Amino acid sequence: MFEKLKQKLKKLVERVGQKTTPEAPQEAPPEAPPKVTVKVPVKIPVKAPAKAPPTPPTIPTPEKPSRIFRRAAKRITRRELSPEDVEDIVWDLQVDLLESDVAVPVADKIIERTKEELSGRKLGLTEDPKKLAEEALRQAIREVLVTDKRVDMPKIIDAKRAKGEPAVFVFVGINGHGKTTTIAKFAKWLMDRGYKPVLAAADTFRAAAIEQLEIHAQRLGLGVIKQKRGADAAAVAYDAVAHAKARGLDVVLVDTAGRMQTDVDLMDEMRKIVRVVKPDLTIFVGDALTGNDAIEQASAFDKAVGIGGSILCKMDADARGGAALSITQVTGKPILFIGTGQEYGDLEEFNPDKILNALFSD
Ligand code: GDP
Ligand code: GDP
Repeated sequence: MFEKLKQKLKKLVERVGQKTTPEAPQEAPPEAPPKVTVKVPVKIPVKAPAKAPPTPPTIPTPEKPSRIFRRAAKRITRRELSPEDVEDIVWDLQVDLLESDVAVPVADKIIERTKEELSGRKLGLTEDPKKLAEEALRQAIREVLVTDKRVDMPKIIDAKRAKGEPAVFVFVGINGHGKTTTIAKFAKWLMDRGYKPVLAAADTFRAAAIEQLEIHAQRLGLGVIKQKRGADAAAVAYDAVAHAKARGLDVVLVDTAGRMQTDVDLMDEMRKIVRVVKPDLTIFVGDALTGNDAIEQASAFDKAVGIGGSILCKMDADARGGAALSITQVTGKPILFIGTGQEYGDLEEFNPDKILNALFSD
């Protein structure tokens, strides 16, 4: 996950380390002990940092303490990024983020926050500048990954069950991006937690979509409510809700058609389904590999029917991370799950720390 973006961020962190490395070679990172400890007093050449000017031969003449302190103080202030350094770094960060397909306003926000974190920060002699850089980036990215809007699916279902009604979740998104597979994975997630779902084949536009949902349902031992191809999608969803109510099932998962998000008829169809079944939650399913396109789709569906959250599939194959970093900020709605493979078990509850660890792990 995120290999490309991870490498970019790693390089950036290295650069911050270089910029804040003081000239005195004695201050090489204290936490890097030599692998082999040699007791013999052999001379180990001290590696000078890339930028260090040729150091004059050290003459062991005793120095006045005041001079030593003055020089030490200078070193400390040197361990601060100048405004130019910060500008330089965030410029690189902007390029990295945009290349990773992070949406422009989201890249801007990450940059602003990183700048705030890095500007004027003075480092103690023992502090690691790379650590500071990583912390700054982590903090900035965390802020775009989270929202205070919480969605607790079991709570929604339990509340409906208490009223003797099924919870209704409508899934929207473009065909081929993983919607049907995600519905099946989510059904499995619900069954693992003791809930009884039923599927509604409300993508009546393609016969293959109905068949595909039926295959998943068969494998999982679930019921599917369907009609013929071309039937009214809202009617199928409505029937499924009635069926769930009659059978005491807990959750209705509605699959819907997904042509282009610019297709007016498609959006009208989604609006009609939502008007008829009044879902407890409408979930956008996007393909992480499509980057900014997924963000535009999410926005379009949100505008048309109001989404409550997103699921991003194919995160296992996504090297760039742009969709994952952008979707929460752009829609204002949380990522609920991420799809991490083609098996039914490959659906993980969204956890920002997992994403951050994937970005900054070695
Ligand atoms: P739909 O047309 O939107 O319903 O898309 P499908 O559910 O048919 O998925 C399209 C393809 O994406 C299928 O081959 C899925 O197996 C695959 N897919 C879905 N989710 C994931 C995922 O999280 N990771 C990977 N690697 N593949 C996925
Ligand atoms: P409109 O028909 O496009 O104006 O939209 P409505 O909101 O009036 O109805 C939405 C659609 O939901 C209807 O066209 C029906 O297909 C479906 N629907 C509404 N009520 C029922 C019902 O009681 N049973 C079934 N099967 N479908 C219904």
